[in-house]
Amino acid sequence: MELDADTQALAKGGFHCLLCDINVPNQASLEDHLKGRKHQKLRSVRDTRKTQEQHSVFVSGFQRGTTELQLIDHFQRFGPVASVIMDKDQGVYAIVQFNNTESLQVALAEPQHCMAGQRLRVKPRETKEFKYIPKKKQDPSKQQLISLEELTPALCQADTVGEQMQRLVELFELSESERRLRELLVSLLQEIFSEFFPECKVLPFGSSVNSFDIHSCDLDLFLDLENTKTFQAKAKSTAAQAGEGLSEDAQSEDSILSDIDLESATSTEVLELVATVLQKCVPGVHKVQAVTSARRPVVKFIHKESGLQGDISINNRLAVRNTRFLQLCCSLDERLRPLVYAVRYWAKQKQLAGNPCGGGPLLNNYALTLLVIFFLQNRQPPVLPSVNHLKSLAGEEDRCIIDDWDCTFPCDSLTLPASENTEHLCTLLSEFYNFYGQFDFAGAVISPRDGRALPITDFLNSEGDRNPRLGPLNILDPFELCHNVAGNLNERTEQRLRRQCQEAAKYCRSLQYQRKSTKGKVWGLVRLFHQQGGSVASHGQSGEAGADRMIIGIPFKLNALSGDTRKQLQGSGDFRQLWFSEVCGAMLCVLENVLQISCSPVKRVSEEGTKPNASGEQSSHLSETSFNENETKSQELKRKPGFQEANNNEDVHSKVIDSPIASLQDEPQSGVKRPRLSEETPQPSSSKKQRLDPAHPQAAVGWQCTLWHKVWAGRRKVRRDLLKGLKEDSRPDGGSIELESKVTEAIAQQEKEAKVSGAVLEFTLHAEVVGGTEDTRTLAKFTPLVDGSNLFQDFFHFLESFLPRMTGKFLEKSG
Ligand code: ATP
Ligand code: MG
Repeated sequence: MELDADTQALAKGGFHCLLCDINVPNQASLEDHLKGRKHQKLRSVRDTRKTQEQHSVFVSGFQRGTTELQLIDHFQRFGPVASVIMDKDQGVYAIVQFNNTESLQVALAEPQHCMAGQRLRVKPRETKEFKYIPKKKQDPSKQQLISLEELTPALCQADTVGEQMQRLVELFELSESERRLRELLVSLLQEIFSEFFPECKVLPFGSSVNSFDIHSCDLDLFLDLENTKTFQAKAKSTAAQAGEGLSEDAQSEDSILSDIDLESATSTEVLELVATVLQKCVPGVHKVQAVTSARRPVVKFIHKESGLQGDISINNRLAVRNTRFLQLCCSLDERLRPLVYAVRYWAKQKQLAGNPCGGGPLLNNYALTLLVIFFLQNRQPPVLPSVNHLKSLAGEEDRCIIDDWDCTFPCDSLTLPASENTEHLCTLLSEFYNFYGQFDFAGAVISPRDGRALPITDFLNSEGDRNPRLGPLNILDPFELCHNVAGNLNERTEQRLRRQCQEAAKYCRSLQYQRKSTKGKVWGLVRLFHQQGGSVASHGQSGEAGADRMIIGIPFKLNALSGDTRKQLQGSGDFRQLWFSEVCGAMLCVLENVLQISCSPVKRVSEEGTKPNASGEQSSHLSETSFNENETKSQELKRKPGFQEANNNEDVHSKVIDSPIASLQDEPQSGVKRPRLSEETPQPSSSKKQRLDPAHPQAAVGWQCTLWHKVWAGRRKVRRDLLKGLKEDSRPDGGSIELESKVTEAIAQQEKEAKVSGAVLEFTLHAEVVGGTEDTRTLAKFTPLVDGSNLFQDFFHFLESFLPRMTGKFLEKSG
């Protein structure tokens, strides 16, 4: 028999399949193998790859940050584009695949491809030999069920964004048979556990039942042993009264209740028993594992046949209740469900959500859902009521207290009034991004319980044991009011969330979002979900560079406040102003003390002027006059002894406090040192009480700066050399103020020795705290003045990470 091109006869007998990389012992098994599923599948994959290669071009030469959509737009003019694959890490090349060879030929025949002013290099794709690499078995929970490529045709066929969102739900939600399987599994577990834990209840919660189910979601179960405890206690007392051992039920051979006293057993002991029951007595489950060290200890298992992953917990009554709350919200307004599905898919695509194995700095599904609910509570008129409002509509029978938290809300949505809000899904999604694109995550606490953002100053009392752990993003659980459900997020995720919301909001204003393409192009949700390269998704840096936009945001950091200051600021209306002054003072210290940049206050005509706000009052941002007054004070302060020489670290605090910006809040008497923040009670007169007006910066100050040395160049090497030259015990901490000042000093010295002199750069820095939804970030805006050698871009790039980091260090020191 003639051998297939994929097979080789082996010298030792038998055959080797080159495609599947396996050996078979004889002719008969070779024939079976060649007809088998695996071999056939690989052949078809290879054929598809080959066609793909023959339809694809290799493109390079585009700008960094170019998106797949931009490439699609460019190449669509040569014929229908099937897909674009970007080189994600570097963003320097892409593979564009056409639907047919004709289009490919037309594209290759084009003499010159130009995109956004750049000349593209377009060449045929190299063909590679197909090689089978066996996939490692994937964790079912991590499987991405429906890829964007698969979603695209289904969504693009819809006629409106609202319809696209409905389709998304239909594509993701559990099918009837999947639901049935879950129900059967719950009944089976109920039956078996009842044997061992009489009168227990197995209650599903989480995404399987909260109305936000998707095909791969896990099955969260709460094993409620409350009745079992009562049962056990009764059995014991009956037995004691009768002067016998335990009752029959409680002591039967099967009953593990005879091994354990539920009242006094630790949750680890109980969970280990649960794991034993699962392992030994429940058919069809495997990989049972008690994870007792987690914040919520669970027993994990997998249903063999379906791959369904289950978690059983014994101490999660609140989660069952918040699941019920999510169900209620869904039945109150049918727009919630499609919105949540859209936001969840978007967040996964943008890598804002989906922590592997439950831990990590990204949002989880519960937190995302609360973000959507909170947004809907804040529409005018509201789409959903606050939890407090729901509570006021509840009857006596709805009363529910869990772990001392009031979890009361009406059980029946039919008794509740419908929302008067009639906005379409398309508008709501776009407004969701607007809302969070401007939200001051660091300075406000999102409270679905109250249906409004609470000032962070309400939570600064560090002594309260029922206070949430505050972080860069604070979402208060609606019931467990000391729990920040986004407490796991880091600053980087918070910044990316805000930026991604801003980008999404911008996109949602375009027609490509709002209207179906008549030319068959991708539109609406599909473009929203598309990964965008470059600027936003990239690196979570705090800077924003552009031809005329060089802005670095310094976020509010709770850690930088001392306990005393926190107390003082609790409920203080001046919180943002005080924070702004601290940040500006610290920033100035970084520039002057660490980087040896000369800074002098500049006059700036306020961009907006003083405009009356809606209520006819003067808005709070500083007018030209007040600005200049402040500058005069700053100059006075700068002349004060101690200000200029605050180069040694002990003076850091007084420098921060004595900074020009400090003068914005209070009027220190000339020559009198300003008191520490914690010693003063800033009380603006009521007529001047400032409300943040989104349209105007609350305060703004500016400096003209001269940079004398190339402080950014070669810092790492200088730092390394400096550390090498010091004895180990006298080495300052890596990245400390002291060390960084020394690095600058060394660079300055080197330049002096090389006889390099004169200013390297001049620029202005304007700092302002913006309004928005009460934003606490200080924005530092840079504008180059003299930059003959085009160095500013490099310097700014260095400042993007250096300035926020070092400002943070000064703040911590002063705090
Ligand atoms: P999925 O399993 O698809 O990720 P889920 O909503 O089931 O979504 P889980 O992490 O499995 O999310 O959590 C199950 C349930 O536990 C949630 O629905 C919620 O009721 C509760 N829960 C999850 N995370 C938190 C949290 N951070 N704070 C309070 N409750 C939470
Ligand atoms: Mg779950």
